[in-house]
Amino acid sequence: MSEYQHRARKRFGQNFLHDAGVIHRILRAIHPRAGERLVEIGPGQGALTEGLLDSGAQLDVVELDLDLIPILQGRFAERSNFHLHQGDALKFDFSQLGGEPGSLRIVGNLPYNISTPLIFHLLEHAGLIRDMHFMLQKEVVERLAAEPGGGDWGRLSIMVQYHCRVEHLFNVGPGAFNPAPKVDSAIVRLVPHAELPHPAKDPRLLERVVREAFNQRRKTLRNTLKGLLDAEAIAAAGVDGGLRPEQLDLAAFVRLSDQLALRQ
Ligand code: SAM
Repeated sequence: MSEYQHRARKRFGQNFLHDAGVIHRILRAIHPRAGERLVEIGPGQGALTEGLLDSGAQLDVVELDLDLIPILQGRFAERSNFHLHQGDALKFDFSQLGGEPGSLRIVGNLPYNISTPLIFHLLEHAGLIRDMHFMLQKEVVERLAAEPGGGDWGRLSIMVQYHCRVEHLFNVGPGAFNPAPKVDSAIVRLVPHAELPHPAKDPRLLERVVREAFNQRRKTLRNTLKGLLDAEAIAAAGVDGGLRPEQLDLAAFVRLSDQLALRQ
């Protein structure tokens, strides 16, 4: 089977991996083992799928493009550890896979247009997940792994780091893909915390405070949070209302959202 039989579709974010060195490096980072429960999002034509199956792990794959289904079936249907689901990963109910808590290992060279909503969707199932390895746009990985104080620190960094430890593993240039994307890519590892380091009284309020604060990231918290928290509540959280949102760490945002929870 040649990878050129299928014409890559832009609307499905299709950039197929064809660099064997990069494929091996990703598989080494994932390090799948027999008996594990793996889920691959967007297997495409199977560039990563083959190595994942060779490990002996049980592998569920979720692919949206109907044209790729016969290609995947043709390559892997005879493998007893291969389980194919046609559909949209954004709507996929990961709890239907029946994995033990903390068992699912999610992997994927993700379509860039859905990577952020997909990560948020997966975080709803964080309790089921052992770890996640994704190929993403390099800028997105930099935002995921960001630290407070810089321009990359924002809603994505905070909400993902609330749930997970984040490791930026390595970068991948456009030449590893066919067709080559216009941007650089990177591999990230996300590991859900066994216990949240900064649990919020209500995570939905954390989401709200963070969203509101970063809506206008150049303004002070006193200004951006005006509609949610008054000066007294901001001070009660131990936060200087004269700071800008990018100067606050996760723990400070959790304290602000807990003040909001107390006042609701
Ligand atoms: N894993 C393959 C590789 O590395 O060569 C393909 C990667 S390609 C960047 C993204 C894959 O995700 C494509 O196969 C595409 O059809 C699939 N895809 C796009 N949107 C999807 C969605 N919402 N749910 C599941 N798969 C999707």
